[in-house]
Amino acid sequence: MTNPPLTLLSEEEGLFQTMAREFAEYEIRPHAAAMDHEAVFRHDLIEKFFSQGFMSIDIPEALGGSGGSFFMSILAIEEFARVDASAAVIVDVQNTLVNNALARWGSDEQKRKFLPRMARDTVGAYALSEPNAGSDAFALETRAREDGGDYILEGRKLWITNAKEAGLFIVFATVNRELGYKGITAFLVEAGAPGFSVGKKEDKLGIRASSTCELILDECRIPKSSVLGEVGRGYKVAIETLNEGRIGIAAQMTGVAQGAIDQATRYAKERKQFGKPIAENQAIQFQLARLATETEAARLMTYNAARLKEAHKPFLKEAAMAKYFTSEVAERVASECIEIFGGYGYTKDYPAEKYLRDAKIGKIYEGTSFMQLQTIAKVLLGQ
Ligand SMILES: Cc1cc2nc3c(=O)[nH]c(=O)nc-3n(C[C@H](O)[C@H](O)[C@H](O)COP(=O)(O)OP(=O)(O)OC[C@H]3O[C@@H](n4cnc5c(N)ncnc54)[C@H](O)[C@@H]3O)c2cc1C
Repeated sequence: MTNPPLTLLSEEEGLFQTMAREFAEYEIRPHAAAMDHEAVFRHDLIEKFFSQGFMSIDIPEALGGSGGSFFMSILAIEEFARVDASAAVIVDVQNTLVNNALARWGSDEQKRKFLPRMARDTVGAYALSEPNAGSDAFALETRAREDGGDYILEGRKLWITNAKEAGLFIVFATVNRELGYKGITAFLVEAGAPGFSVGKKEDKLGIRASSTCELILDECRIPKSSVLGEVGRGYKVAIETLNEGRIGIAAQMTGVAQGAIDQATRYAKERKQFGKPIAENQAIQFQLARLATETEAARLMTYNAARLKEAHKPFLKEAAMAKYFTSEVAERVASECIEIFGGYGYTKDYPAEKYLRDAKIGKIYEGTSFMQLQTIAKVLLGQ
């Protein structure tokens, strides 16, 4: 049997990609600049994400989801990011982190309770980072102590994507700091839980419409049935979901790069200098060709990591490489696309500058670029 090319989509994948592309173009694009400016994501758009099945791409149909695949989530994230990276990260966190963790680690009861809600109307958030625990995530300080039939959570989370919109949070806390990473436990915390609140919202450089907030857990009481997976095994939940989530960020960065190229290509054909479109200069043609080549390499790495994951093959190194590489490409491509727009590219009247601001986050969240290099090096050195 010959293996199909990475970018050859199955009929189902192809139809889904077209649907995601058209949705992004007609539903998201008209609002992207205003949402970025106002730093708020429209509620009606999130409702459409739900009604079109983008918030439950690989949740089984029997549980109310779209019954698609992980690879289809990757396609949706890429297509959304081509138009707006904030839209992409909402869908990314929902599908590749929260739904994924619930499907993999949830008890039958938790899956029956939460997955239909994640498909219907509940936005999810994933709360690992803290003020003193970023790259060193397992140094987290949020504590969980038993109290009768409940756990009481105490601490503060920082940088939590989707926090303003979310109804369900996966919160990582330690049941015993002396146990190190073996004390870390994942909890399902609903937005209305007593003692739970969403704090300051960050005013950011890019992905401005995506909410990034602090979470405050002030004697937050949740039932013991809220433990996701096993007590003391939260580190495994975190590591395994983030390994997969990185492929989602790689898809986001591929989409950002492609979106910037789309805009720059169109502009280069329209903008005239010296009596002809700037696209007729070989320098501009070669610049676009080089950026498109790098973006294609980014896409191939992303699709390969996603296909390996779906084939149940090792993908740790490939996912880290994809995230590392695509975020480099997105930043470089978006930056050069501004140059193709000339002075206009430097203003907010044109779409180019937003792509560069949105690209920057790729090197930071779900593990900084140095953390990706560390993972790659560990695999190379057999550590
Ligand atoms: C917009 C946004 C959204 C986010 N969303 C979420 C979310 O939904 N959920 C969540 O849990 N977190 C989220 N984060 C947090 C994000 O994952 C962290 O910011 C990231 O892991 C880096 O942690 P830090 O900011 O504490 O930086 P630090 O860990 O302090 O790193 C600072 C610098 O030091 C470098 N560094 C650190 N340790 C080493 C080392 N051992 N060797 C070499 N270099 C090192 C880093 O690479 C970086 O360059 C988000 C962050 C942002 C900005």
